[in-house]
Amino acid sequence: MVLEAYLGHVVSPLAAGGLLDYRRGCMLVRDGVIEDVIDLDRNQSVPAEARVHDLGNRLIMPGLIDMHLHLPQVTQTGKSGQHLLAWLNQYIFAAEARFADTDHARKIARWFFDELAANGTTCAVVFTTIHKEACDAAFEIAEAKGSRVIMGKVLMDANSPPALTEDTQTSLAESEELLRKWHGRDGGRLQYALTPRFGVTSTPELLAGVGEIYARHKGVYVHTHLSEAREEIQFVAKMYPGARSYLDVYRSFGIIGRRTVFAHSIHIDSDDIDCLCQTQSSLAHCPSSNFFLKSGVFQYKTIKDAGVLFGLGSDVAAGPSMSLFNVMRDANYIQASHWLEPQELLYRATLGAAIALDQDDRIGSLEAGKEADFIVVDPTARTAIVGDILDHPTHEILSALVFLGDDRLIARTYVRGRLIFDGQIAQNRLVKQTTSC
Ligand SMILES: [Zn+2]
Repeated sequence: MVLEAYLGHVVSPLAAGGLLDYRRGCMLVRDGVIEDVIDLDRNQSVPAEARVHDLGNRLIMPGLIDMHLHLPQVTQTGKSGQHLLAWLNQYIFAAEARFADTDHARKIARWFFDELAANGTTCAVVFTTIHKEACDAAFEIAEAKGSRVIMGKVLMDANSPPALTEDTQTSLAESEELLRKWHGRDGGRLQYALTPRFGVTSTPELLAGVGEIYARHKGVYVHTHLSEAREEIQFVAKMYPGARSYLDVYRSFGIIGRRTVFAHSIHIDSDDIDCLCQTQSSLAHCPSSNFFLKSGVFQYKTIKDAGVLFGLGSDVAAGPSMSLFNVMRDANYIQASHWLEPQELLYRATLGAAIALDQDDRIGSLEAGKEADFIVVDPTARTAIVGDILDHPTHEILSALVFLGDDRLIARTYVRGRLIFDGQIAQNRLVKQTTSC
């Protein structure tokens, strides 16, 4: 196998803590795996056998990890003016019902995975819809395009519009069928997540079934929403009057533990936080969405200090942008009383998320032995006004990425060493289309 050498400014959080920061670095990749990362400023040299990709002084960083977003909602991005439940009823459920048409589902899925790659997202935790064929098609497209996903068919059997209300046992059986087909496919690049939408649309029978399948299939994920909006929480409290809290509803059905991902988790208390810690459950913090639907403010400092595992999610379409740079910026903005440093935010969008997803043995940082999921970032694409940004200290470059960044910064995206997005090719295609108009 050819040894590939990527030369540039290598920046990555490290498993042992701190930041790897080689101004003239070289990442060696063989057969999709990082063999070494070397510092060319310390008299180390590129191995003679390597095929060299000189990226100048652009940044080489770990691929970004989006811990929560909805594939079928991309067509509804930017439709605001409602809190969660009204927004779902007005815009989202109709868009999801269209996924009964598998041709439509395929078209949107192709666009979705291209867009993820263009945003530098190399791993995403994804809601699809209740439709088995649409979810199956989404996996096929992710498999072909080289994307890394944790994804599943949504389960809904209560308080939903007729087009999205399933028979409970059929919903569970179809989920298990898809799980058997896709979980762990291609050496673990594709993983399955049991995906009950949230408490509001779930009967006790459905949640019990999800808990049983989760217990039966070691290593499978559960991905759902928790304590996002006040009205949602009140609704769930009425449905499950015996539960101490919303989290306690899931816990009582065995839906808690390693590889469970709870999106939002804004309105939770100290008992919930203790429970999340003890069970090593993880949270997806979605600040852009929380701003958009005015859902509330994630208790970032409290949750971080308690040691709960968490990362960031765009929550498209309640979050208006797939760019995790935008999400990092919003994570800082939404906290009224304290700053989140760019290095901390980068950690949450990479290694912190990989740890939360129990995937840090293979992704999340640029270290020997990990799979080569990485992005090439051009800070000058959005920071021309800063002029000599590449000569600034690294913490200032990271700050510019977080506060000025978006998808335009992404020059290339790789998963397992495979190029899945090339900004130059995309740009040429755009120029060709424009000139032929
Ligand atoms: Zn969501």
